[in-house]
Amino acid sequence: MKQDGVQVDEIILSSQVMEVCWTHALSSEKEEIMGLLVGRVEGSKVKFFTLKVLKRLTKEKDRVEIDPSQLMAGAEFAASLKDENGDELRVMGWYHSHPHITVHPSAVDLRTQAAYQLMDSSFVGVIFSVFCTDRSTGVDTRRVTGFQADTSEPGSPSCRSVQISTDENISFTSREIFVSAYKALGELWLVLAEEEREEFNKFKAEGEIDPIAEINNQAQLSTRLAHLHRHLVMPVMQTMRLKLQIAKVNAKKTEERKMNAQVSGSLKTGDGAMKKSENVEKECRREKNDTPGKGIEKRRRSSQEVCAEKRIRSDHQPDQICLKKTPQDGPSRSSRFSDIIFKSDIESRKKSDSQEF
Ligand SMILES: [Zn+2]
Repeated sequence: MKQDGVQVDEIILSSQVMEVCWTHALSSEKEEIMGLLVGRVEGSKVKFFTLKVLKRLTKEKDRVEIDPSQLMAGAEFAASLKDENGDELRVMGWYHSHPHITVHPSAVDLRTQAAYQLMDSSFVGVIFSVFCTDRSTGVDTRRVTGFQADTSEPGSPSCRSVQISTDENISFTSREIFVSAYKALGELWLVLAEEEREEFNKFKAEGEIDPIAEINNQAQLSTRLAHLHRHLVMPVMQTMRLKLQIAKVNAKKTEERKMNAQVSGSLKTGDGAMKKSENVEKECRREKNDTPGKGIEKRRRSSQEVCAEKRIRSDHQPDQICLKKTPQDGPSRSSRFSDIIFKSDIESRKKSDSQEF
């Protein structure tokens, strides 16, 4: 849905998108990187749920060039994703890095941005400034900024800053989108490795080269791939392992909460059953004409035992369903539930007995 004339006043990135963008930006200290941001417009906000990492045609310190086919691939990728309403997503922004330089967009960035805005006025740009270390203090400052090109005045476009923020809640718009954002992290390594191999093959295709030079080039390729592995793949893998561990802990906690809730629910059922069982006991007394008193202690006890038997059968009827359900899951859960209810039942009964008699 194109929304001409709407001025974008906020860019919201999902936490996954922000994570992948930073990882991408920090993957290269010498050259700029670039990618496409995929999302939708909501009023004056643009929300990004996922992204497409792009393969570069040229790798420069202050410039990045992309094959137009990559932009087409980005548009197709976006259209293949549906949001929670079943609507297609779109490429609504681009991001690139500024290694060792300011976060502000250059004149070239603003012209590129103005061209994108001609196609869609809500299109935005995001820049990640990385590897800006203050030599005197050793402090490494990383910055991110959102912007649009202001073409209201004649001449070169100027920069209009757009507020940028991260929202964790929009990461889970749909499972497909959530997975695609993390897939981009895996694609990052593949795209960068492919760029290195293409560069190596370019030299090879230029003609016959000295065998020693070729060995040197192969060694260079191996060194660069090893560098990528050490500085990109390994940290990403460690992060993923940590996330998996956190997910397992959270899943265990959720399971424990569910179990506690079930136990609590069963105990409540047990309380209700206790009242029923008291009625059964009273009924027993009536049947046996048994009234509490000192002279009939022996007979009353015997009556209690009979009633208790009836009560246990009555009380534990619902749990028998549980027991039938769970043998294949192991006896521990069902028996534990039964045990808890049973113990509680006995305790309550003792209490009830002591109050009553
Ligand atoms: Zn730039």
